[in-house]
Amino acid sequence: MSLNATVVHQTAQQLYANVDFSTLSWLEQQWAAWYLWIDNPIIATGLMSFLLHEIVYFGRSIPWIIIDAIPYFQKWKLQPNKIPTPQEQWECTKQVLFSHFTIELPAIWLFHPTAESFGMATHQVPFPSWQTMLPQIAIFFVFEDMFHYFAHQALHTGALYKHIHKIHHKYSAPFGLAAEYAHPAEVFILGTGTIAGPLLYCYFTQNLHIFTVYIWITLRLFQAIDAHSGYDFPWSLQHIIPFWSGAEHHDFHHMAFTNNYSTSFRWCDRIFGTDDKYREYRARITASKEAMKNKSKAEQDAAEKQLIAQIEAEGLLAEAIAEGSAPAKTIKVQ
Ligand SMILES: [Zn+2]
Ligand SMILES: [Zn+2]
Repeated sequence: MSLNATVVHQTAQQLYANVDFSTLSWLEQQWAAWYLWIDNPIIATGLMSFLLHEIVYFGRSIPWIIIDAIPYFQKWKLQPNKIPTPQEQWECTKQVLFSHFTIELPAIWLFHPTAESFGMATHQVPFPSWQTMLPQIAIFFVFEDMFHYFAHQALHTGALYKHIHKIHHKYSAPFGLAAEYAHPAEVFILGTGTIAGPLLYCYFTQNLHIFTVYIWITLRLFQAIDAHSGYDFPWSLQHIIPFWSGAEHHDFHHMAFTNNYSTSFRWCDRIFGTDDKYREYRARITASKEAMKNKSKAEQDAAEKQLIAQIEAEGLLAEAIAEGSAPAKTIKVQ
């Protein structure tokens, strides 16, 4: 028993046999301490990945839950008539937790062997420099956005929509927690866009640390949760970086059930013309605001709500057509 313990301990120690700990940063020391403490790299990577996901996902959702509870922020809500209730948020949380624990947790132990088989650094310290990590993360953002654009559009067709993607479209006015409210098959299909980029990059360059992948996943989770938040503030990222999608872009996808299929950036939808209805809607909102400039706030709000209701009605029809429950010609009659 004691001999076994000694053998295992030596194995973990061997991971860092040639490392001078005095040259490491505080974070790098914690990283090494984690792998030494768990004493099993597969469990150490799997557990850290799962915890990172849970902490970032729910940690980033909490501010949006608070914002939904404060009426002051409603003036920036994209669909002001649809504030999620605490019951709705709790139902959504339970569903997301259920899939995290029943699907992600059993599969996460494959992450370390998969990463290592592609040549990814895992337990190693020190970490790569910022100059190495930043362009890698930028490449992952672009890859994921394009992958998601085409995969998401495929999910809007026939059986794929009816049996898989329909679950994610339960909320026509999404909220932060709803980012991962989806069928397990959808989590797998769209999650490929997040993970395949780093694996392919690593396969071809043999130069990637899992720490960089964790930063990428953290930013990707921020992106997904914020895009579902339902709020567009004057300080939201899309007002600083014009090609960033943000909530204003993805909220329309949930409301209108069409257009805006990409995640982080606006360029795919612009290039392939799948933002025509969205841009028409924005133009109508702007025109309506201009025309109602001298009217009361209540009248302005009523006009915006009427426009939203119309887009939603068109969205319901488009959804029925995608599911095959209404003939396509119905839209022409409309
Ligand atoms: Zn969709
Ligand atoms: Zn969505």
